[in-house]
Amino acid sequence: MTAIITCDLYQTLAIIWASIGIIIFFILLFIPAPYGRHTSKNWGPLIDNRLGWFIMEFLALIVLYGWLMLINFQLSTLSWIMIGLFTFHYLNRTFIFPLRLRTIGKKMPLLISLMGLIFNLANGTLIGMHFAWFADYPENWVYDYRFIIGIVLFVIGVAVNWYSDTRLIHLRKPGETGYVIPQGWLFKYISCPNLFGEVIEWLGYAILTWSLAGTVFFIWTFANLVPRAISHHRWYHEHFEDYPKNRKAIFPFIW
Ligand code: NDP
Repeated sequence: MTAIITCDLYQTLAIIWASIGIIIFFILLFIPAPYGRHTSKNWGPLIDNRLGWFIMEFLALIVLYGWLMLINFQLSTLSWIMIGLFTFHYLNRTFIFPLRLRTIGKKMPLLISLMGLIFNLANGTLIGMHFAWFADYPENWVYDYRFIIGIVLFVIGVAVNWYSDTRLIHLRKPGETGYVIPQGWLFKYISCPNLFGEVIEWLGYAILTWSLAGTVFFIWTFANLVPRAISHHRWYHEHFEDYPKNRKAIFPFIW
């Protein structure tokens, strides 16, 4: 297998995948991904949004652990810690997050779930191959400034993402389906602290793994979430006349 997928081929595929992410970024600036508040019936058959989230996310871990089992499961403790961080994120996103949602009868296009599935298939493959083949961290990597900065950003990003998602989910009392203007916390500065947190989280992961796979994952997260935050922000302004004027979309005081 190592003979089939060389380092050069891996890098070429990763760069092609990152380039697709950059193109998707520009497309999403004009066409919001149709789920959540932007959901639409014009994108083919609809499925329950919780099932949609599960379909989008479940492959990431299967693919990652699949590559490890196929190629190399004898990894350093450090690699296992990094894989553990990835696993922690995806266990939440696949199983816990969909169950926490207070959405009743909400649908999303099956097509969107399948696109998310491809995203996770490709990223899970790049991350899995990175750890199975290429990762070779020195034992003192935990003291390296890249690991320290990366893990700090990752933890802050996860905390901001979780807490903001929780506040948003609890804007609805059980049984409610509408939208209100979020107040307080980072919402004073930006419309989408949850998306901001996730961007910071994967920036941290790219830095702490100091890898092509982590960087490509970050590019894709940025490409998905920055346009989504801009669409959410625009949506708030269109639906609430009294929406705070000085609030930015995703990066406080900037954008
Ligand atoms: P949203 O902020 O749109 O929604 C989060 C939850 O809060 C939904 O249940 C939503 O309901 C509800 N909600 C949001 N705003 C309000 C409001 N003003 N009033 C009442 N309820 C509200 O998040 P996304 O769906 O965009 O993303 C969800 C999570 O997935 C985030 O943590 C995000 O970071 C992550 N994600 C990661 C991606 C990646 O590429 N890594 C890609 C996409 C998402 P409803 O669904 O009905 O709108």
